[in-house]
Amino acid sequence: MSTVIPAPFPTILPVSESQKGFPVRRVYCVGRNYAAHAVEMGHDPNREAPFFFQKNPDNLDPSGEFPYPPLSSDVHHEVELAVVLKSGKRSIPAASALEHVYGYAVALDMTRRDLQIASRSKQRPWDLGKDVESSAVFSPLTPAAEMGEIGAQRIHLEVNGEVKQDATLEELIWKLDEIVMDLSKFYHLRPGDLIMTGTPAGVGPVVAGDKITGGIDGLDPIALTITDAE
Ligand code: MN
Repeated sequence: MSTVIPAPFPTILPVSESQKGFPVRRVYCVGRNYAAHAVEMGHDPNREAPFFFQKNPDNLDPSGEFPYPPLSSDVHHEVELAVVLKSGKRSIPAASALEHVYGYAVALDMTRRDLQIASRSKQRPWDLGKDVESSAVFSPLTPAAEMGEIGAQRIHLEVNGEVKQDATLEELIWKLDEIVMDLSKFYHLRPGDLIMTGTPAGVGPVVAGDKITGGIDGLDPIALTITDAE
């Protein structure tokens, strides 16, 4: 059927060392998945069931720039490991969960912390704090086989060259197979779904002009410049 307005084009992520891209379907995010970050956000670091929120795939921005969002004065960086799925279904067992993984990326979950905490304290949804325009940033994807087993890799983020977040993937409270298993209890996972797996301790504010860099051993690095509000 022809459309009455132009149909939006799917968001495509580049694949490292490839001419082909990866079309994005949905973007899921895991909350509080590193104990030290749970503590810095005022929560119990003990293992509770993982919880999820989403970012609209339209908020993926490949430009390398993040315009400081309106109606916020406390915007934080969060560096994360992202897992991208090449297949999926409902109720995936942990034992076969990684068979659905196409690959990995370094991701940034830019967050209006002031609006997130305000909604949290009013028991309202997090969308205004998390589903921020241009707030989902990904490095080019690396196929899973090239990354190898997840565990000892360092995950880090710098603001203007100063290290702010520094941990290893060993510190993930919920491992990747458990995250895929749990998320698939709620959703019929499908090819193109992305999961951002949570951020380690050290989150903090950014201002216009800041330059963020980050990485995970074995993956392409990430870089983002904070620009003035649009
Ligand atoms: Mn996050």
